[in-house]
Amino acid sequence: MIVIMEENATEEQITKVVDRLVNEGFDIHRSTGARHTVLGAVGARMTDSREYELLEGVHEVVRVSSPYKLAARAFKPEGTKVKIKDVIIGGEKVVMMAGPCTLENREQIEAVAASVAKQGVQIMRGGAFKPRTSPYSFQGLGEQGLKMMREAADRHGLLTVSEIMDSTQIPMFIRYVDILQVGARNMQNFNLLKDLSKLDKPILLKRGPAATIEETLLSAEYIMSGGNHQVIICERGIKTFETYTRNTMDIAAIPVIKKLSHLPIVADPSHATGRRDKVPPMARAAVAAGADGLLIEVHNEPERALCDGAQSLLPEQFDKLMEQLRLIAPAVDRTI
Ligand code: PEP
Ligand code: MN
Repeated sequence: MIVIMEENATEEQITKVVDRLVNEGFDIHRSTGARHTVLGAVGARMTDSREYELLEGVHEVVRVSSPYKLAARAFKPEGTKVKIKDVIIGGEKVVMMAGPCTLENREQIEAVAASVAKQGVQIMRGGAFKPRTSPYSFQGLGEQGLKMMREAADRHGLLTVSEIMDSTQIPMFIRYVDILQVGARNMQNFNLLKDLSKLDKPILLKRGPAATIEETLLSAEYIMSGGNHQVIICERGIKTFETYTRNTMDIAAIPVIKKLSHLPIVADPSHATGRRDKVPPMARAAVAAGADGLLIEVHNEPERALCDGAQSLLPEQFDKLMEQLRLIAPAVDRTI
């Protein structure tokens, strides 16, 4: 149940409503919007919502029928903006996150950071702990990689995003990384989600390869219900019977999630397609469909990449894509 307070509701009125909900066994998640204070009440049995409509200062009571409540659009109708320094994800600007699949060495990290920064990218991506299908594949540089990406990002005025695989890595990630990425394979690692829910750090939650939109939003709910409301969803392709592309990019998930949830949604056309030549068309489509950002793999020497070279754009291809996105974004009332 979601209780929307009047614009001019007093703190005393809000407290009264909260106390009453708590007495009935609800957990309360308060969100202060631009105009209204909204109280998300979760965890207890549904009462007669009309009782609450009668309380002073209450504007509206909305019963949320979806299993996720805090991630539901009704909890924050104006949409969530995740703010990190001067970067806003979920605002008018389409936020670009770009960099190598895997952090490999100082030269590669510096070369890619420099080339994406010059295109106005705000966030550098790069994995230091890689979820590889084979245990014999390169597993990542670990902490050393995160440290090198931090240094390169700072030199070029970039924020960073990187995949966290395990709760024990949290203190290390907090030191070096601005956005903690939960990979597709870990979308339903509920213990990890619960631990991330205690942090004051944005989380990029990737949709699992076989997860429905509802399951994805329920994973977001895990993070939010523990207190961390800075969640960004990422569509990165799902498993279907199609084999031409690595996954099938569910472009429709973008407008669907926009309607169902207030959380920002970004798209990853690199893992969705697995092929460099298919990345720009899907990136363009994602922006046209309303994505709040893109996560794209770029490598200075993709033919020598230790992971995902075939889907990594060359810097010049990335430059060309940015040129195209600068035309598409304004057509859908966005900047880039
Ligand atoms: C990644 O972004 O590096 C990655 C491994 O992606 P996914 O979890 O979507 O497979
Ligand atoms: Mn990759």
